[in-house]
Amino acid sequence: MTNDEKIAIITSFQDNPLVHSLTCSVNSLHENLVPKVYIDEVMLVCPTCKTVQLIDDEFIRLLGELDTRQREFGRSREALMKQHRCVKEF
Ligand SMILES: [Zn+2]
Repeated sequence: MTNDEKIAIITSFQDNPLVHSLTCSVNSLHENLVPKVYIDEVMLVCPTCKTVQLIDDEFIRLLGELDTRQREFGRSREALMKQHRCVKEF
């Protein structure tokens, strides 16, 4: 995975309203973490307090899978609700 690919995965995950965004380890009420490259490594930075967290490739891969699955689930749920004119939340 290139750094650009990693940043794309993390950014998509953080923008996905169907998952719980990655938040600051100091205070989860801080702004959502953003991916930044430091010394050729992608790290997560809190825009509020500038705390830096490491993130490994395996975890980024998991985020990517979760992001894709939740987006697919969101789309099929939307299609299903349209099809059946279902108003009940599930
Ligand atoms: Zn913070």
